[in-house]
Amino acid sequence: MNEIYVTRPSLPPFEEYAEEIKGIWETHRLTNMGSKHLELQERLLDYLDVKAIELFTNGHMALELTLQAMNLKGEVITTPFTFASTTHAIIRSGLKPVFCDINPLDFTMDVSKIESLITDATSAILPVHVYGNVCAVEEIECIAQKYGLKVIYDAAHAVGVTYKGKGIASYGDAACFSFHATKVFNTIEGGAVCFRDTELGDVLRKIKNFGIRDAEHVDYVGCNAKMNEFCAAMGICNLRRLEEEIREREVIAKQYRKALDSISGIRLNDTQEFTRPNYAYFPIVIEEEKFGASRDEVFLKLKEKHIFARKYFYPLTNAFECFQGQYFADHTPVALRMSQRILTLPIYVGLSETNVEKICNIILSCKK
Ligand SMILES: *Cc1c(COP(=O)(O)O)cnc(C)c1O
Repeated sequence: MNEIYVTRPSLPPFEEYAEEIKGIWETHRLTNMGSKHLELQERLLDYLDVKAIELFTNGHMALELTLQAMNLKGEVITTPFTFASTTHAIIRSGLKPVFCDINPLDFTMDVSKIESLITDATSAILPVHVYGNVCAVEEIECIAQKYGLKVIYDAAHAVGVTYKGKGIASYGDAACFSFHATKVFNTIEGGAVCFRDTELGDVLRKIKNFGIRDAEHVDYVGCNAKMNEFCAAMGICNLRRLEEEIREREVIAKQYRKALDSISGIRLNDTQEFTRPNYAYFPIVIEEEKFGASRDEVFLKLKEKHIFARKYFYPLTNAFECFQGQYFADHTPVALRMSQRILTLPIYVGLSETNVEKICNIILSCKK
């Protein structure tokens, strides 16, 4: 039997990509903001419905360099229910993460707990649109304004999501996307920052290229985080099919919902009001008391049948070995509880109806 992973990267037809990169053999322009880079940037401005964007070599550098470009200091309120990148970007920028708990319905930051974590040292809030779920953007905006804080969204999962008819990255001072191979939209490796303040754009543009202003002037201690032409070309191709792919993902999500929605002990991700989702992930919460089997039992049973679901996000980032003694997962009890019960099921373009049915049947066979 073939193995089924939690995701499978999208690829355009080979000929389409070959055609897209052909011109590079004439120009010999491989990177440093060439024509593919500029074209993808233009197309994403339109697709994401934002005013300003900068492309990066990956989502992590987009996030890390945004924090550095904003020249933030002190503490950043964030969530531990995320990929390592979010927390690492804060710490690698010389800032201190302060972990806020999540709400158990959509797994985003619990806004009722933010204010009690704000101190004189707080400079920003860094929530995650986890699984493509939209954070409580309006409440977060209110809190940020009241205390004069910056808001940077980790929107790595949220390409193509809209809220109240607007692109998800129009919320916050900045929103960072990942275009990694495993994400809904990929440029092989890649990322982008969308932002409000045009001055921040000037800094980001320099800081991703060693801080260089021009041949004889260097303004910032930057690094190399530019997107190259081959990745941009992949993005141009993949973007053509993205809407179609999101619709295909929706069909898979609906099939999962139908099979698992009314099962006692399994809770599905809430559908959110005013939101156009992108179906990036299909998380389920398994409550052992009602289901009769634990998350780990279901995970192993699927694995036995060569189906590799993932425990996103277990462990919490505040439980990582590299932070031992500094941060504590029991300070965010809801996130801890969710991390022990969550399982994200395979969802990607090309996953067949038969396979989704098979996955659901294996899960249901674990019920006692
Ligand atoms: C994937 C991901 C990132 C990092 O993106 P890369 O493109 O892999 O560097 C950051 N945050 C979250 C939540 C992610 O899932």
